Amino acid sequence: MRSSTYLTLDRNVRQVRQSDVEAFARRIGGGVLAPGDAGYDDARKVWNGSVDRRPALIARCRSEDDVRAGVRFAAAHDMLLAVRGGGHHIAGNGVAEGGLLLDLSAMNQVSIDPARRTARVGPGALLADFDREAQAYGLATPLGINSTTGVAGLTLGGGFGWLSRRYGMTVDNLSGATVVTADGATHAVSSDAEPDLFWAIRGGGGNFGVVTSFEFVLHPVGPEVQAGLVVYPFAQARQVLRAWRDFTMTAPDELSVWAVLRKAPPLPFLPASAHGQEVVVLALVHSGDLAAGARDAAPVTKFGDVIGSAVGPTPYAGFQSAFDPLLTAGARNYWKSNNFSALSDGALDVVIDAAGRLPGPECEIFIAQLGGAMGRVKPATTAYVGRDANYIMNVHGRWSDPHDDERVRSWARQVFSAAAPHGTGGGYVNFLTDDESERVAAAYGDNYARLQMVKKRYDPANLFRVNLNIAPEVAWPSRASP
Ligand SMILES: Cc1cc2nc3c(=O)[nH]c(=O)nc-3n(C[C@H](O)[C@H](O)[C@H](O)COP(=O)(O)OP(=O)(O)OC[C@H]3O[C@@H](n4cnc5c(N)ncnc54)[C@H](O)[C@@H]3O)c2cc1C
Repeated sequence: MRSSTYLTLDRNVRQVRQSDVEAFARRIGGGVLAPGDAGYDDARKVWNGSVDRRPALIARCRSEDDVRAGVRFAAAHDMLLAVRGGGHHIAGNGVAEGGLLLDLSAMNQVSIDPARRTARVGPGALLADFDREAQAYGLATPLGINSTTGVAGLTLGGGFGWLSRRYGMTVDNLSGATVVTADGATHAVSSDAEPDLFWAIRGGGGNFGVVTSFEFVLHPVGPEVQAGLVVYPFAQARQVLRAWRDFTMTAPDELSVWAVLRKAPPLPFLPASAHGQEVVVLALVHSGDLAAGARDAAPVTKFGDVIGSAVGPTPYAGFQSAFDPLLTAGARNYWKSNNFSALSDGALDVVIDAAGRLPGPECEIFIAQLGGAMGRVKPATTAYVGRDANYIMNVHGRWSDPHDDERVRSWARQVFSAAAPHGTGGGYVNFLTDDESERVAAAYGDNYARLQMVKKRYDPANLFRVNLNIAPEVAWPSRASP
């Protein structure tokens, strides 16, 4: 670190004594990085390459003590505080301009208790870490579909994936957590201990404190499941999507089939003539018995003239990383998402029209099939309220050249607006971008007022605001924003 007397914290040129920074750095297990230090530029990168923010300090936490020290330091010096799990949030909420970043990536321990079927997971663990350890015992809990995503952010926002129709949202499988709140205190929370805080972190994002440990319940899954892709020509999109929609309405909970409209990657089971052409991909996982899976998934190949398909017994942990090559870090990304309780023909027509105008080879629209167990939980049971979202659509703009920023973003916004009349009006906070803060209250619906009360109790000064922010019930002193 540099040797000047003061370190500048942000654009408002607030400063902290270098001697205080050095004393703080000595307390942090992995050390503290400032601009110019080796490793600083790597440590500030997040998944979305559009996000380029420079924290004043990055604390590389190795323990709960480090987190406590970081929270206290930020509060004492009135610093903007960012918390990074896996760094995947589309809004770039795993980093902020100026202030202090708590980098939790080294706290990635996963410990499985196969007898109790539980997992204790550190806040820096990625889905790959969790699935690998749990699958060693043939166990799993519902997580997302890209193995480099952080368990922490995914869980705190709700979390869904291939197992959610059978076992619920990720938060429905969270049985306890340890949280460091804005005053630097540690809280062990569960349905019996500080139930309001436990309720709030199950969907309320990082608004209430830093979670330093998660405890999940696990279920027997795999290790092999029926899984794979069925690819149809875009010319049959209307027929295929309608048949898919009708099929999903009565499919068993073990089966999830997601629709993806995009240009075909050069997958080995597709003819070369299809590569780069618009296609409809139905991606599926059946988490039950392999024979039942083959039977239940068979109709998915009967919706039109299949161009290519690859469905069969597949290691569950392997399929959890099947989409990683399409979702690597560093590209520019912009998302717009809608929740639907049902997919009308009109909604499908919007999607098909938009997929015929993809603004780039990496852009796509996917519609996740939810419902099942996640939809049978009452909306007030957890902060995650979107139990009526039987389908969540994500319009995924992805590109490399900054000159394309506005063109791709406009396309995504236009699709969102056209689809909105067909949706619930709700949203999923893990998919909201940094220009969608006006959607946060709607995303929490009837749970928002209770979330504000919990926020007021545990973070009245809004120290934790580099997120889809839940305003404390009362006004707080104005401070720098991300
Ligand atoms: C390629 C890709 C695929 C995805 N697929 C899915 C999917 O299938 N299902 C799904 O539900 N979501 C999915 N998501 C969305 C994902 O759930 C969110 O991006 C989530 O926020 C990622 O968590 P993270 O820890 O990686 O993110 P980060 O950017 O590190 O954090 C996200 C937010 O959580 C806060 N936070 C992180 N860790 C903590 C902590 N320990 N304590 C308190 N606050 C914390 C951060 O401050 C930030 O506000 C996907 C995202 C990407 C980029």
